[in-house]
Amino acid sequence: MTKIDDLPIRDELRGQSPYGAPQLDVPVQLNTNENPYPLPEPLVARIAERVAEAARTLNRYPDRDAVELREGLAAYLTRTTGHPVTREQVWAANGSNEVLQQLLQTFGGPGRTALGFEPSYSMHALISRGTGTGWISGPRNEDFTVDLDAARAAIAERRPNVVFICSPNNPTGTAVAAETVLALYDAAQAAGPSIVVVDEAYVEFSHRASLLPLLAGRPNLVVSRTMSKAFGAAGLRLGYLAADPAVVDAVQLVRLPYHLSAVTQATALACLEHTDTLLGYVAQLKAERDRLVDALRGLGLEVTDSDANFIQFGRFADTHAVWEAILAHGVLVRDNGVPGWLRVTAGTPAENDAFLDAVRNVIKEL
Ligand code: PMP
Repeated sequence: MTKIDDLPIRDELRGQSPYGAPQLDVPVQLNTNENPYPLPEPLVARIAERVAEAARTLNRYPDRDAVELREGLAAYLTRTTGHPVTREQVWAANGSNEVLQQLLQTFGGPGRTALGFEPSYSMHALISRGTGTGWISGPRNEDFTVDLDAARAAIAERRPNVVFICSPNNPTGTAVAAETVLALYDAAQAAGPSIVVVDEAYVEFSHRASLLPLLAGRPNLVVSRTMSKAFGAAGLRLGYLAADPAVVDAVQLVRLPYHLSAVTQATALACLEHTDTLLGYVAQLKAERDRLVDALRGLGLEVTDSDANFIQFGRFADTHAVWEAILAHGVLVRDNGVPGWLRVTAGTPAENDAFLDAVRNVIKEL
């Protein structure tokens, strides 16, 4: 049997494993930060209509520049942040992972580096590796906030080409203050100049406002977003960014032609028509998130303040054993490899109750 390492693959891929959480068939799945609410039926019907319309011209390539969709996303950002965003400032791709990949293909690459503050979303490091970009792991404080002095020192010394700031941060749930982002941006411009990417995949769940208004006057700042979480459309694969129009022009140098299918564009446009209903689910999830935080603290556990649709809780001497014990009660949570801590996604009230029951039982057994 031929193994991967028998193939003439790139050296940096040897011995690596692909990204992915276990996809186990258990009753309560709270491990991948998905939105637990299926799309409402009127939206499902509207998607069918829009896709049927798109199907009539599937013999043709889709709109390569996704103009109507970018217009819709710009309107959504303007409405929800109060900061005017034009379609020239917006770019879309197949999930924000692809957006991040295009950014690294454009601003990273061989001989260049990217820096992120860990623990954070592990794909930042993995997409860096996949694009031949060197990875630099930056520091965090004990409470998982960004250690600003250490971060500034790391940027000045290592002079990365790309800096990732994940806010709210996955897997810790911590949001980053605007002043911190501004200080890191200034440090990155002094050392670089370099691109600063604020990954706001979970921002709709935050107690804090979006960092998007910081884009004004900062051409090397990029805000990345997704329809996978707040819009409840992880299966759609639609991510987007907002930045200076020059950044949007730059990523076109690496994007594959017609990368966003006509079916994807039609579906995303239908979802945007139902924004208010979908944001109603977000409000419910935020309330459930806060209920879970209180309940876990009530059980005597440590919980990191969360601005996302998930919660980091602990601390456990044997994290993996606790993960397995919770799983034995039919609830799948995530072990992100942060020593002492597990992560749970806020689900429906019933799913959250099942999770809390499982935790109550498990800590009794500890
Ligand atoms: N950024 C962060 C912080 C995430 O947690 C995720 C998904 N887990 C993504 C980006 C990618 O999401 P998608 O590709 O579905 O937009």
